[in-house]
Amino acid sequence: MSLDSIDRVAVLGAGNMGHGITEVTAMGGYEVTMRDIEEDLVADGYQDIEWSLRKLEEKELIEESADDVLDRIETTTDLEEAVRDADLVIEAAPEDLELKHDIFSDLEEYTTGDTLLATNTSSLPITDIAEAVDTPERVLGLHFFNPPVKMDLVEVIYGEETGDEAAEAGYEWVESVGKTPIYVRKDVRGFVVNTIVGPFNDEPAWMVSNDETTIREADATMVHERGYPMGPFELSDLTGIDVGYHVRKEGGRPIPPITEEKVENEELGQKTGKGFYDYEDGDGADYGPDDVDDFDWLRVEARMINRAAFLVGEDVATPEEVDTGVQLGLGFPEGICRRADKIGLDEVLEKLETLHAGTGSDRFEPHPYLERLVEEGKTGEDAGEGFYEYDGDDGDLDAYHNLNVTLEDEVLQVELDRPSRMNALNGELLEELDDLFSSVDVDEVRCATIEGAGDRAFCAGADVTDFSSAEPTDLMDVTPTFETINDFDRPVVAKIDGFCLGGGLELALACDLRLATERSEFGSPEINLGLIPGGGGTQRLVRVLGETRAKELVFRGEHIDAERAEEWGLINRAVSREEFDDLVEEWVDDLAGGPPIGLKVAKKVMNEGQDASMEAALAMESQGFGLLSSTEDVMEGAMAFAEDREPEFEGK
Ligand code: NAD
Repeated sequence: MSLDSIDRVAVLGAGNMGHGITEVTAMGGYEVTMRDIEEDLVADGYQDIEWSLRKLEEKELIEESADDVLDRIETTTDLEEAVRDADLVIEAAPEDLELKHDIFSDLEEYTTGDTLLATNTSSLPITDIAEAVDTPERVLGLHFFNPPVKMDLVEVIYGEETGDEAAEAGYEWVESVGKTPIYVRKDVRGFVVNTIVGPFNDEPAWMVSNDETTIREADATMVHERGYPMGPFELSDLTGIDVGYHVRKEGGRPIPPITEEKVENEELGQKTGKGFYDYEDGDGADYGPDDVDDFDWLRVEARMINRAAFLVGEDVATPEEVDTGVQLGLGFPEGICRRADKIGLDEVLEKLETLHAGTGSDRFEPHPYLERLVEEGKTGEDAGEGFYEYDGDDGDLDAYHNLNVTLEDEVLQVELDRPSRMNALNGELLEELDDLFSSVDVDEVRCATIEGAGDRAFCAGADVTDFSSAEPTDLMDVTPTFETINDFDRPVVAKIDGFCLGGGLELALACDLRLATERSEFGSPEINLGLIPGGGGTQRLVRVLGETRAKELVFRGEHIDAERAEEWGLINRAVSREEFDDLVEEWVDDLAGGPPIGLKVAKKVMNEGQDASMEAALAMESQGFGLLSSTEDVMEGAMAFAEDREPEFEGK
């Protein structure tokens, strides 16, 4: 059982999840058969896939045609036919243990012992489902998030009997379809993501039930002060108040009175038109920054952190896995373990202890792992260690949390790593970029590239949740970071695929060269917020585009497409996504193979010359020219030319 042996996949269920998983599988290059119990259900699922693929094709989000992907999908209502030749089966039938038992015992009959058997269950123990087969070592959870095509995360869950070989093959398969897997090493209720999100919904519901806060205040604070993409009550309304209710009930946990009341009145959220907010007669989740008050957010976060301590302490997941899970699965602005380390684990523990003593509720009982970390002095970032270790060594490229950095063959590749926020800039990311470009050893670098993680954006601008509750004067000062990049001694290339807006555009402008995919969009929308570009945009745009076009972009705040951006000279080239990597490689090879000192001087003279008089700029140029003429690189360049070979510059 290994990834190499997976060619054919069967997905059981053509509903919400089944059709999406089928689509992802086919997009990943696998032959896949989707099975449901009736023809019209299969047909509906197939239609949904077709519609979605056409959209993706239109937006150039897939590299082949929708028809090519569809060619790899077959449908059937016959279980045996679906799974007979499959190397991996993913079950996505309704959440009912008995039904899943029936399906898995049929699978035992119709598949060979080598077939990997996965379930997409959200809440049933994998161990219980695996009881239906004689070979539970090949049963695992592959928990996709809704909608699978958009959501990057898949939890790879071990049941009690799951073999490492099966889990590893599942993990690698998830990677092979372009998703991000995290291991859930023990079969705990809620796996990783739902374990953490539980208190996010639950605690504010207790606080409202006890008249300690209001729905709007809780939602506004969590969104506008703490940066969550949605408030807890807004989220419950979206997922269905009954869903959380049943999960708690099955887990034998007490239910906050306000939740109980909503379920009794059948006010279950958006789907019934009314939940914590009114979607029929009211404006839905209509809280705003003005509703932020002294809501005790630490009480909620402390409980989530306590859950994270449970997951890490019981070896269910590593802090990195927990953090990846909540960022990709829930769109949290940062990992909960990272956030805990920033708050200080001693402060978190104290909060839990005080609440535990005050209420007697086991909701607040600190997990021994959290207590141990604090006892050992591992209280977080300031102490040098908490959930994570912080070595404070600026030269360590792995030390960044918002950037993925690699240095290979003297090319520094930087990926802005906030895909759930379209790589929007926050204070921490900017600090890390600044730190990286000012501390990296330039002698080891010939060229740098900056790109965005995920498949939506290079960078969609400043993260508004990072400053929405701040005073205007506290708005992020992005300029120093952009200046550091602009002044970096090596050429910097912006690799733009997707949105490049606001601060993201300014970041790209601080780079020397800009290469983009044709689907990319550019714009300076700040004016729509009553602002102006604040990271050098007003000035660099004028220099790059000229006043006429720069004013058009800044005054109108509209997006332009890559074709126009290329025509205007905002970017160097725009090509299709298929051609993009080759183009970037070609340019980066040129730059990395070029003379380092020559390029450094050219960059400096061209950057600084723009702000000087012609006379001063020419003087700078001639000074640079003189300086270069005595370098070994110039000798090498001349010799290589004479000998008709490629020069080998060494930067001397
Ligand atoms: P759904 O009701 O939309 O789809 C289930 C489909 O399975 C239906 O079309 C049904 O006809 C079909 N089905 C019933 N018996 C079957 C059988 N024997 N063989 C094949 N198909 C059969 O449900 P869903 O939302 O897609 O959820 C499916 C599974 O995924 C559940 O276990 C659920 O817990 C899990 N899940 C759901 C979500 C979500 O947000 N909806 C997220 C993650 C995981």
